[in-house]
Amino acid sequence: MAEIIHLREPVDERLHERLHERLARAREAAGNVVDPEVPVLTIEDLGVLREVRFAGEVVEVVITPTYSGCPAMDLIALQVDLALEKAGFASRKVTLSLSPAWTTDWMSEAGKEKLRAYGIAPPVGRAKGRGALFGVDEIPCPHCGSAETERVSEFGSTACKALWRCRACREPFDYFKCI
Ligand SMILES: [Zn+2]
Repeated sequence: MAEIIHLREPVDERLHERLHERLARAREAAGNVVDPEVPVLTIEDLGVLREVRFAGEVVEVVITPTYSGCPAMDLIALQVDLALEKAGFASRKVTLSLSPAWTTDWMSEAGKEKLRAYGIAPPVGRAKGRGALFGVDEIPCPHCGSAETERVSEFGSTACKALWRCRACREPFDYFKCI
């Protein structure tokens, strides 16, 4: 009957709105957690934040570590939990998802821009391509933009970065490796 349908709609809508609001709030709280190794990047920028969902009153946040065995990940899980608590979520769960493995392809364009501004060359190319595995020829310098750069070492300040140097401005820089 039309009357019944009419009565039910506002209720459904309110429920839907409430869920939507809670999801947005949880996603914002979790997404704003920064990477301890690259503090300018949030886990949202990195694509480490995979999913935020609710099972009843329990909010579950799924994160995928950037590099397996990355010691930063325990810290990130703890920070996500704290952020959710601060946002008012009493029941929460942080789940690590290892498959599919994280790839630099998940990094947002905003994240790459932030990396560059921070002085770290963002990953170039797609991780899925074979070429990316064996080094990219051209990593533009994050300081001056020159393509006249060379790799100094496979490892930079952390395992996920390589140390490069610019031949134009002579500045060394970290390159966030493409994986
Ligand atoms: Zn340069």
